[in-house]
Amino acid sequence: MSNIITFEMRNNVGVITINNPPANALNFEVKKHISENFDFCMSNSECKGLVITSEGRMFIAGADISEFGIETPEGIPELEDVIRKIELAPKPVIAALNGMALGGGMELAMGCHYRLADPSVTVGQPEVNLGFIPGGGGTQRLPRLVGPELALEMIVTGKPINATKAFEAGAIDEIIDEDLVESAIQLALSQAKKPDELRRTGDLNEKIKDVDPKVFDNWRQKISSKSRNMRSPFECINTVEAATKIGFDAGLAYEREVFIELRDSDEGKSMRHMFFAERGVAKIPDIPKETKTQNINKVAIIGSGTMGGGIAMNFANVGIPAVVVDINEDALKIGLDRVKNNYLSSVAKGRMSQEKMDQTMNLISGATNYSEIADSDIVIEAVFEDMDLKKKIFKELDQVCKPETILASNTSTLDINEIADSTNRPDKVCGTHFFSPANIMKLLENVRTEKSSKETIATVMGLAKKIKKTGVLVGVGDGFVGNRMLHISARIAEFMVEEGALPWQIDKVIYDFGFPMGPFSMNDLAGVDVRYLIRQEQKKLYGERRQSVIIDNVYNTGRYGQKTNAGWYDYEVGSRKGKPSPLIEDLIIQTSTQLGIKRRTFSDQEILETYIYSMINTGAKVLEEKLAIRASDIDVIWHYGYGFPRYKGGPMFYADLIGLHKVYDGICELNEKYGDWVRPAELIEQLVREGKGFKDFQL
Ligand code: NAD
Repeated sequence: MSNIITFEMRNNVGVITINNPPANALNFEVKKHISENFDFCMSNSECKGLVITSEGRMFIAGADISEFGIETPEGIPELEDVIRKIELAPKPVIAALNGMALGGGMELAMGCHYRLADPSVTVGQPEVNLGFIPGGGGTQRLPRLVGPELALEMIVTGKPINATKAFEAGAIDEIIDEDLVESAIQLALSQAKKPDELRRTGDLNEKIKDVDPKVFDNWRQKISSKSRNMRSPFECINTVEAATKIGFDAGLAYEREVFIELRDSDEGKSMRHMFFAERGVAKIPDIPKETKTQNINKVAIIGSGTMGGGIAMNFANVGIPAVVVDINEDALKIGLDRVKNNYLSSVAKGRMSQEKMDQTMNLISGATNYSEIADSDIVIEAVFEDMDLKKKIFKELDQVCKPETILASNTSTLDINEIADSTNRPDKVCGTHFFSPANIMKLLENVRTEKSSKETIATVMGLAKKIKKTGVLVGVGDGFVGNRMLHISARIAEFMVEEGALPWQIDKVIYDFGFPMGPFSMNDLAGVDVRYLIRQEQKKLYGERRQSVIIDNVYNTGRYGQKTNAGWYDYEVGSRKGKPSPLIEDLIIQTSTQLGIKRRTFSDQEILETYIYSMINTGAKVLEEKLAIRASDIDVIWHYGYGFPRYKGGPMFYADLIGLHKVYDGICELNEKYGDWVRPAELIEQLVREGKGFKDFQL
């Protein structure tokens, strides 16, 4: 008998209990044992029926996706065959849902003749989040149970529903408060008396008859923009539609074919990579899970500008009081008003109740001196990007705050080692690099300095989770990880503009690749002046390299982007949608002349490769410099910080997908054009030499 499945006969009913923590995933072994115990039960004349349940808070979270891509070993049945066998069984099989039934777990339950559930249960088909469709009959059985509209909603969005909704819709038969397994045994015994009446989901056709085809077209329309470039959400619709049009067996076969295609597609591989990458960021090799963390019950934020208020909102949203300190009373008022307006807009959109807003706003207070923050557990500094100012503030905070207070900086570019050394507690200093708008963007780059203690880092990593951000640990270095890569690629994009491309052509290529916007639209959003000032600073580091003249020329026109209704694009007042600017086009052509460059045509492919390959090369340098722990952390940063499409897996995974050799050749060509900005990373050379990819790299 296996440890992960137990089988017992209770009152002449077989009871299979899955115990495969943490998620009771349907791995090879679990499937094998379910199948064997099922066969035993069906062939044993003593056994009147079968109950399938699990230990713990989960019924079954789904298939074991770490087994995807591995050929099914001899003797292991496919899930869809086990489910079909259960459905066709001559004796009643009851699913006793003790907890969440997701993906393959829900499919197994739907293959059973009846489903009883604990009130806490949720059920769903989240496969689309991993780039494929349900492959164990989910697209064919769910619409038969709940009708195509709810089935579409569940399968296309991947969002689960609770027990009450599932019961009302017909996905579960009864909600059982107590003695779930015993109730399931009793049901099996009573159904065993009427074997001709066993209800098989595949035979239920009532809810899928005469369905208006508009139902499906409406869904296609609804997801067309959000799911652009993707296949899996549309295939979810196609397969559910098939359930209403072709017979059950044909539907199962069609689902299977599409499932396999998607599972093995780049989209499927990328989405699964991101799933594991996201879980991987929490693993820090020298900081084990058990590392002690500090309690964070009160937060102070210094600076109430663009970032400060948004940072405070994150804490208040999860019930942690936050004091915002600004030296300037007017700035403080403006900052707090901005916070209030953000919440008011959520209330107006119905996303928050007025009561909740009042409670949350009560947790945010303002101050113009440090007297109220001495007892804070963490202080996050978000003042102007000025090293002397930051050092002065950290020195003061070090004196004012209790000894255990963590002092964090939100700097985007400055050396936090230097800031840490201005205090007597460098072990309690780190970076918490929020992205703008700080209350919305999910990424938090937590920056580890040379002296940050493990406890400090474990605390801020835990804090990221608490405020519902994805925290990724990075090291101190120019631009940390995300912005370092962005700045190089954006520069290269500007060089392409100087050589013959136009901003809107580049933006379109990058948008079509799957980013929410291209580098010039992004610059108009963040401020042309901001990029210009960063470039001025970077001249100190990279002054001998080719500089972008076009950014200086655009800056000198006073067109700073959306905030001035003019940047790379023209904006109508109040609109965020830019139109290509003839003035900028003229300026670009003049700039090429000024530089003595004969403009040439760029193909979309050349633009894409130039932009993405330079990004990948910088990513490899970031790994060489140990600014990121693993390549997949960079992918997470690029997804959550800059909208790199999940279905392409982040820049480093994408490089592996297209072949590092090809990328390396492209980078060598770019090196000839752009010199040291795209000097091939030794790490890539080495990986190519060894026939490896970024997936094989680990610090
Ligand atoms: P900002 O100019 O909008 O706001 C800075 C605020 O700090 C102002 O309100 C100012 O009055 C206040 N301030 C200045 N000196 C102070 C002092 N001694 N004590 C208290 N308050 C003081 O700046 P921002 O855009 O919010 O940026 C803040 C920090 O966050 C910078 O280090 C910046 O690099 C970083 N950052 C900004 C962004 C962004 O997109 N804006 C993104 C990530 C990180």
